[in-house]
Amino acid sequence: MIMTKDFAETGQFANYMSQIGESLDDFLKFEHDDALAGDANWREQLSEQLPQKGVGIDAVAQTLRNTVIANGSAIVRPGFTAFITTGGTTASSIASAAASIGSPQRYTLNAFNHLEELSLNWLAEMLELGDMKGLYSTGGSVANLVALGGARQSAFEKIGIDVASTGVDRKCCIYASAECHHTIQRSAAVLGLGRQSVRLIECDDQMRMRPDALRRAIEEDRKSGVFPIAVVANTGSTNTGAIDPIKEIGEIANANDIWFHIDGAYGLPGILDERLRDRFVGIELTDSVIIDPHKWLGACVGIAATFVRDRDILHRAFTQEPADYLEGSVDHQDGANAPSHSMDDFGIPYFDFGVELSAPPRGVAVWAMLKEIGVEGMRDRIKRHNDMATELGDFVRKHPKLELLLEPSLSICCFRFVDDAIPDVNDFNQRIHRRLVRLNQFIPSTTKVGDALAIRPCFVGARSEKGQEIALAEEVVRLGEALLAEMLSEID
Ligand SMILES: *Cc1c(COP(=O)(O)O)cnc(C)c1O
Repeated sequence: MIMTKDFAETGQFANYMSQIGESLDDFLKFEHDDALAGDANWREQLSEQLPQKGVGIDAVAQTLRNTVIANGSAIVRPGFTAFITTGGTTASSIASAAASIGSPQRYTLNAFNHLEELSLNWLAEMLELGDMKGLYSTGGSVANLVALGGARQSAFEKIGIDVASTGVDRKCCIYASAECHHTIQRSAAVLGLGRQSVRLIECDDQMRMRPDALRRAIEEDRKSGVFPIAVVANTGSTNTGAIDPIKEIGEIANANDIWFHIDGAYGLPGILDERLRDRFVGIELTDSVIIDPHKWLGACVGIAATFVRDRDILHRAFTQEPADYLEGSVDHQDGANAPSHSMDDFGIPYFDFGVELSAPPRGVAVWAMLKEIGVEGMRDRIKRHNDMATELGDFVRKHPKLELLLEPSLSICCFRFVDDAIPDVNDFNQRIHRRLVRLNQFIPSTTKVGDALAIRPCFVGARSEKGQEIALAEEVVRLGEALLAEMLSEID
């Protein structure tokens, strides 16, 4: 048989993977310039016309190595502490690459598919979620959407309506902290509830949702006939890491028979730090929880998990109208134990629990990363990051030119540079921040704490190292003093 392939195939993988691996190892030395600050030629080089004639894989690999990888993202840097994102660890990335070749889909029974459920169960065990069942999706945005889809389904089923089928027919409400992630509003929009259905509950001075305010809001809405869908609490707000009082909030939700959702996209792994264990009491009251392995746990980006008590609710909320080409080949009767060909069995129908049909196996990356360092390794990493925020807080508190804007919570610390001579402290700190990130060594973001602009590092990177937090503070002081001197000489 004569086969002609129009692309590089068998026997080429090891060669190209090792070439790419070499370039990535170089990249991970972080000796290169920032992609924007350095030689911006790469943009020109990459802005080619659509090729009518291919150049072959060698040329592709070469451009990938020299021009693309070499000008990759600053997010991977050890000093990157902006937003809540980080580079995946090598173990999770090689597993993910293996999945892209070895099992293009998460369905059909095979070893990758098996690790999907195993790793979800590992996460549930590690994060103390009991026997909750999970589903992977692309990120916290979709994970929240899926959880709130479950909440919507549950609320309407209680009044005899299959809302996924017939649609929303009344004014609904989701209660969330004023510090909630805005994917809650977007989820409400996508679910047909409307962004305005999210009622923001005020926070205390530590940016935690106030249970008394929640109770009042629910009572008011009950009187006016608004239909409650969910109460959403943060275990680790994106802005400041604040952990809502989940026990009190959960009790209020349960007493009012409202679905209780916890957004732990960033901060749920904080439960591994036994010093913070108390703040997660009440997690057993939840109906749904989300966690982003691609944030604090160090998985490569594109991996979040939603956990619920009963996945059937997700099935009813998200099932498609049955499709013959899928259903026809599934042997639901014998399930996973049948000694059948893998194509006879789709395994657990994750595609009916959420919004994606085609989706890569993601569990293998989580499995790889947990298997590499274990729960103990993960606990040590989480504690190291929490310590970095605490120690930065202590340093700031003692420093005459720095002000701590909020007690550090989890691995986030919000602070700023101060001096009596500064007329506009927010603008001044914004300028410090701009100079800081241009130096490409410490890359925190900014946020607002009340009206104050804060410099806000969030330590989640597996590659970050202790000591870096103090070096960051010292750099802020150095830049602040330089800027102050410039400002004062201008006034003179
Ligand atoms: C990051 C984050 C999200 C959104 O997650 P993505 O993975 O970026 O889609 C949702 N909630 C919280 C609390 C987050 O920190």
